[in-house]
Amino acid sequence: MKKLYFVIFILLTTLFLFYGCVENIENSSAVNNSENATSAVSNNNEHETSAVNNDENAVSTASNNNENSEKVSSAAENSDVEDSFFNIFDDDDEWQLRLVNAENPIDDYTPEVVNFTLFAREGCLIDVRIKKPLEKLLRAAKKDDVELLVYSGYRSFDRQVEVFNNNVQRLINNGLYEEDATNETKKTIAIPGTSEHQYGLAVDLVNHDFAVTNPSGVLEESFENTKAAKWLMKNAPKYGFILRYPKNKTHITNIDYEPWHYRYVGVKHAKKITESGVTLEEYR
Ligand SMILES: [Zn+2]
Repeated sequence: MKKLYFVIFILLTTLFLFYGCVENIENSSAVNNSENATSAVSNNNEHETSAVNNDENAVSTASNNNENSEKVSSAAENSDVEDSFFNIFDDDDEWQLRLVNAENPIDDYTPEVVNFTLFAREGCLIDVRIKKPLEKLLRAAKKDDVELLVYSGYRSFDRQVEVFNNNVQRLINNGLYEEDATNETKKTIAIPGTSEHQYGLAVDLVNHDFAVTNPSGVLEESFENTKAAKWLMKNAPKYGFILRYPKNKTHITNIDYEPWHYRYVGVKHAKKITESGVTLEEYR
């Protein structure tokens, strides 16, 4: 009888040890899996970083190397050919990509404008064709807790004359000679007849509190540090808007860096322009 008890004891002990072992194996494989998951995450991060680096490379290559920038633009042309195959009746490219600058004046051109009231200063007008995309952009920002304000939209030729002269006068009051004040003004405000604001597809976007905290209405480069500016940099192209006068591109645009000035070019082109890090002058 004692022998039987001993055999049962041995059997139970073996069974106990066996199940304990299986559980340990399962646990350790779970640990391995989570280790794999962690390494997968860190790999993804590495890929993201390298993707960012690639972008940086693309930007510096495009701006530094003529040969490569030709390749970039020819690649863009090729994909345009493919796109145009599918948009064969679509003539949107012409108005969306029209270049307006000192070399390409629009003289007395007047777009069909509409009064824009959503998150905008009173009396703000824009080209009717960008009403919907602008509304989408502003609503998306609001969803992300970024309250934007359309500070400036369409400006008539006469209004542009007024804005230009007011800035010249402001600088003269600050002690500059008229000639210097005029030259300084040209760097940030287009000469009447050459402004994208007169074209109707450009908007100056600021954070909602700007009008309160900045009654002088002078937009400054430090705006780039605001949550609003950072949101715009990242998200505006999804709605068809590009940062029109980027940093380090003033030698091409002849306009100072303006982190608030966005120009509508359509979603397809906005994404291409932003991804390749070129200006509208280089893209066309
Ligand atoms: Zn502007």
